[in-house]
Parts: sequence; structure tokens; C-alpha cells
Amino acid sequence: MSKNYIVGFPRIGEQRELKKALESYWANKSDFSEVQKVASELKHRHWEYQKDAGIEQISSNDFSFYDNMLDMAVTLGAVPKRFQDLQGEELYFAMARGNQNAVAMEMTKWFNTNYHYIVPELSLEDSYKLNANKIIEEYKEAKAHGIKTKINIIGPISFLALSKRVDRGDTFELYSKILPVYEELLREIAELDDTVTVQIDEPIFVKDLEPKVLSLIKPTYDKLALISSNIKIAVVSYFEHSKEATKILVNTPVWALGLDFNHGEENLESLSDIAASNKVLIAGVVDGRNIWKNDINATIALLNSIAQSVKKENILVSSSCSLLHVPFTLRYEEKMNSEIKNWLSYGVEKLEEIVLISKIFFDGKESLNAEEKALFEANQEANVSRSSSPLIHDKKVQERIQNITKLERDGAYEERIKIQKELLGYKDLATTTIGSFPQTPQVRHARREFKNGNLTQAAYTQEMKNYIDDCVAFQEECGIEVLVHGEPERNDMVEYFGEQLQGYGFSQNGWVQSYGSRCVKPPFIYGDISRPKPMTVDWITYAQSKTDKIMKGMLTGPVTILNWSFVRDDMSRGDVSKQIALAICDEVDDLQNAGIKMIQVDEAAFKEGYPLRAAKVSEYEDFAVRDFKISVSSARKETQIHTHMCYSEFNDIIATIEAMDADVISIETARSGNELLKIFAQVGYKQEVGPGVYDIHSPRIPSIEEIVKQIHSLLEVLPKEQLWINPDCGLKTRKYEEVKPSLKNMVEAVQIVREEFETVK
Ligand code: GLN
Ligand code: ZN
Repeated sequence: MSKNYIVGFPRIGEQRELKKALESYWANKSDFSEVQKVASELKHRHWEYQKDAGIEQISSNDFSFYDNMLDMAVTLGAVPKRFQDLQGEELYFAMARGNQNAVAMEMTKWFNTNYHYIVPELSLEDSYKLNANKIIEEYKEAKAHGIKTKINIIGPISFLALSKRVDRGDTFELYSKILPVYEELLREIAELDDTVTVQIDEPIFVKDLEPKVLSLIKPTYDKLALISSNIKIAVVSYFEHSKEATKILVNTPVWALGLDFNHGEENLESLSDIAASNKVLIAGVVDGRNIWKNDINATIALLNSIAQSVKKENILVSSSCSLLHVPFTLRYEEKMNSEIKNWLSYGVEKLEEIVLISKIFFDGKESLNAEEKALFEANQEANVSRSSSPLIHDKKVQERIQNITKLERDGAYEERIKIQKELLGYKDLATTTIGSFPQTPQVRHARREFKNGNLTQAAYTQEMKNYIDDCVAFQEECGIEVLVHGEPERNDMVEYFGEQLQGYGFSQNGWVQSYGSRCVKPPFIYGDISRPKPMTVDWITYAQSKTDKIMKGMLTGPVTILNWSFVRDDMSRGDVSKQIALAICDEVDDLQNAGIKMIQVDEAAFKEGYPLRAAKVSEYEDFAVRDFKISVSSARKETQIHTHMCYSEFNDIIATIEAMDADVISIETARSGNELLKIFAQVGYKQEVGPGVYDIHSPRIPSIEEIVKQIHSLLEVLPKEQLWINPDCGLKTRKYEEVKPSLKNMVEAVQIVREEFETVK
């Protein structure tokens, strides 16, 4: 009696087949029928993998050509007006990516993951109409293939909460229009089979919900669960606990609740409610968000403790969330250190874990056959090896952490900035950039060839230096005041540092879907972090040697490195980021000792690390601020520390930003005028600020006039003594043809504004 379950499976394919098919179709190199063929092969293969592994509850409709939220919008007929002349795949991909006549729908992060969903657009005047085709067809396809699936859909409350209104107002005002479409959907599903299980994802239940939203849970699920007696509904949430919603759901006629016990330990407090209601508990115990092998013994212990409250026969062993968030299979990791590889588990390997755990939990270890026994023993050995391996545990790092006394730099901001302004002599409204310059085909080629061993170290270094020469010369020519080296040696702002830090691992094929056809390959932190040698000093000092102006050194901050990696789970995130902070701190010191006077420590991902629950925010902020400060604690008073964050919402976190105590922060503002800057003025923010004066996400070249206008609007909020002038973000995705005129216009605009101040005087 093994009972197991899986929330969802990745769809892009182990060799990113779907990505390739989509991109070829988008480039008009193939027909949509080719994409459909690949999609169908993938679905079948993925169902087979799950079935072969012994998974009992396999999903349909976890596949998507682009995104499940977009699929749900199409299912509900939530098609924005600007696309209404289109149909079929043309409509679908236009919604996702835009076309000649209409901009794409907005895309945003799926909770605290790096997956992005398409934000549905709703409006009171629109009507909604069911289009259940995809859901029905996928169910039939699986059935024809011999697999009776459960059907995955996104729940109405999460759908509304994650959508936006195009006509001002609250999306929940559309509740009475949307819910009937869900009811109709369930009625169609009920026709499909004698009994059908529907998994309704309600991840929004893990957030702090307003009473208004909480009050919708009972009526919604009372209704949906009674649509048809042959439908069993499982309401699933993930990434955190959902205690409040669980309390309500146990009093509705749903069949099961899916809870995440890896990332929502507080769900344990819901067990007595679940037990009392006799609901089925889908226990998420195999982490769908991380790449570490499950510790099966520990998981069995957890399940046993759950079984003290909830009847064993009511428990299903499951992944904590869809495996969409982990790479596909370890099979293609041929180059990885075999000891480290043995600690990992990707999607396909997690299937095996779920099945094995459920066997042991329900039938006991005695019931395992020889092969399963061997798997179990290997699992234990891997966990023992991981907890004691010298690859992970570095005494020196641990001692240094224990004995750390310097937690922040010397001197208060007021004292530092006075010294810096005198020494560095930059003007008000000083011009600079965020770090990267266009990544030319040549530079990419050189990096690739060097990596593949086709380019010598000397030739590679020369290529990079040539780039830096040009980049510096260009900045001089256009009159930028604080220069950068342009980051030609970096493929990615985290990977570049990860590759040079001890304790960091990289995969060959660890792709995870980020949005649509785009995948990322996050590096992973497996052990104590240290810095064997300087990481950026040669490049930055070389760049400095090419100019008399100030060369700003460029580093990535500890919190961003943490947030864009898979992180070891045998230590708290805060402890890991503290180790990274010390490595960056050493780099800061080496840079200043080599004569670099300004150093930027980017915290591009600071905001996305925020927890889903307010109760956990202060814990995050405490270590995030602490570790940023540690990372620059070596900076002397006269060394100016910059940071950069690439988003535009600071209202909630302004006190935290202030506490980081960077001398200068550059932020993204071009698209919001001076709105977001106002909060800096409101709180009396003292440090200097570089609000982006033009948007780098588009190839458009901003005119001098519009930049002047933007600077004027910034000056309405903060005085010129406090402002720097720079683009919104790094320029790596742009072309030199765009960047050159844009930066020239930026510099000209600053001249104009400075002259205005002169004439006033
Ligand atoms: N220094 C980095 C760059 O310019 C910062 C990138 C970012 O903020 N995302 O590319
Ligand atoms: Zn940025």
C-alpha cells in the first residue's frame, strides 16, 4: 500500500526541447505543428517517467506552451481587448510576447521563486467564457496513453489575487464573474470519467491574507466541491505555511489538502484540524525547490510524527511543490565532481525518493526489495558523506565566522562623505553607469573559446583588455565622470563570483524554466565559502591604469549571490550569506589597497529575497543588512561604497535600505518619473542617490531634452548635492550603437542642468 503524489512536473524537457521548438517557430523556421509534435512527445515521456518511477497521482495540465497562469486566463476567457481579433496559437503567443500591434501582457515573479508568470488582465466590463479545450484534451491524451491523471488548475482565489485590473479597482470585484466559469469548468471535467481528481493550486494561501480574501475561501470551496459527486478536489498550497486557510478548508467538502512541510513548518500546527476533519493530507516532504538529496530517515521521522495526529491511511507522500523549480535529471551531469553529484537530486531523482519514502513509511523497511534496499542505503550513505565531507566543512571559515568582530566600516556617514567629497572631488550630479557595457559577440566568443580550452590565458586576457581599453576610451570621450571597466569577463553577475569561490558548484545541464522558453542554470552553494584569491582586482586595476578619472570597482553583494543560487540546506541562509560577506569583504580590501577609491557592491536581488510572510521579514532584513555591512566593513572612510538595486518599489523597505549605509545607491526610476524618489525625501534619507534617468530595457535612445526634464523632476525631490546621474541599470543587453548616443545625451543633459544652476547664481 504505497501512496504517493506529485504536485507537478517540469515541461521544458531534459534537453530543453520545448525551448528549441518554440524559438524555431517564433523565428518562422518551423510550423506550429512542429511545436505540437515536440510537446506531445514531451508530455508522453514525462508521464512515462512518473509512471515508471511508481508515482500514483500524476498530473495533466501541468504542461504549458508558455505559462500555466496564461493558460488559466485563456481557459477563463480573460483575453485583453487588444488581442481579441486573434485566435489559437497566434492569440496565445501574442498575449505572452506581444506582436506588431499590441504589447505583451505583464510578467512577474511567481512568489519567491525565479519563475515568472503572465499577469492576467481583468476588467469589470469584460465577460468571461469557458474554453476548457486544453484541459480536456490533455486529460484524454494521457488516458489514451494509459494514465489516468489528476487535473491541475490554478484556483480562483489565487487567480484573482495574482491578476490585475485594467480599469482601476480590486480584482476581487470580479469574483462573481469568474467563479461561475470555474463551476462550468468543473462540470465539464465531471463528464470526463467515472471519478476525476482535480488539484486546485491556491499558493496565495501562504501569504498573509486580508479578512476579505479569507472570507471567500469557504463559499468558494463549498460550492466547487459540490459541483459533482464524482469530482475529488485537492487544494494545494506551497512555499510557506497556509494555517489560516487550512482552518477554513477543513470545514468544506474538499477531499484533500496539500501542504508544504519543507518550507512551511508551521503547517504542523494544522494537523489536529486536519485529523478532526478526516481530510486527506498531501504531505509535501520532498523539496521541490532545492536540489539536495532528501534525508530519507529524517523524512520518515517527520511523517511518523505527522501520523501521530493524522491517520496514516489519510496521508499521501508528495513533493512540496511542482518540480518545475528544479532541474530535470542528473543524468547529463557528466563533469561534476562525483562526490558532490552524489548529494544531489533533480526532478527525476525526486520521483524515486517520493516512491521510496512512501514505501518505507507505509509498509516498513522490511518490505523493500533488494534494489530498493540498495537505494535506501545509498541515500543514507550520501547523507552521511555530505554531513562530514571535507569538501563542505572548512575549519578556517568556521573559525573566522566565530571570531568575527568587525561588523561595519569605520566612521559615520556624515564623516565619511565629507572626506570622500574632498578627496574624490566629484561634482554635484556626477555622471556614472551601473557597471556593464554591451556584451559584444566578440567578447562572448572569447569567453566561450577560453572556457572550451580553445583560447590561451594570454590571448583571452588580451581580448578582455582590448575591450576595457575601448570601453574606457569611450567613457572618456563622452565625458562620463566616474568610469567602470564594463564587465566583459562576466557572463553573469553571480556565476562570475561563484566560479571563483570555494564552496560553489556548477551544473552542466541544470536548467530551470524562468519564463516562456527562457531557462536559467543557477549555481549551487554546497559548502563553506571562501575566496582563494582576489577575483576582480586585476581587471579593475588594469582599467584604472588607463585613466586619470575615478574607476569604480564592481562586485556582487552577498544577498544577491545567495538569492540567485541553490543554497545548501544544512545551514541557515543567514549563516551562508555571512560567509559570502566575508569573501566580498576581503575583495573590497584588496581593491582599495590596489588604489581603487570607489567600489560598487550590487544588491540587485535584495528585494526578491523577502519572505512571503510578514512575520519572517525582520529575520531576513536582519541578516541581509548585517551581511551587506560586513561585506563592506573593510572599506576605509575615504573609500566610497556604492550599491545598486534594480527595481522601483522602496516604500516598504526604505528603512532597511538606509540601514545598509552605502554612501551612494543607484536605483531604477526612469519609468516612474520622480515618484519613487519621494520616499527617500520623506524619510530624510541622507546618503547619495543615483536614480536612473533613462530606461535601459528598450533600444530607444533618450533625447537630451527628455533627460533634462527627468533631472529637473528629480531635483524637485532631492537637492543636487545628493544626486548622481546614471542609467537605470547595467548596459550589457544593449548594443554600442544605442549606448553611445544615449550616454552622450545623458552627459549633455547634465551640462545643461549644471549651467542652469550657474546662471541662477
Ligand atoms: N553591475 C551590474 C551590471 O551593470 C548590475 C546588474 C544588475 O543590477 N542587474 O550589469
Ligand atoms: Zn539593475
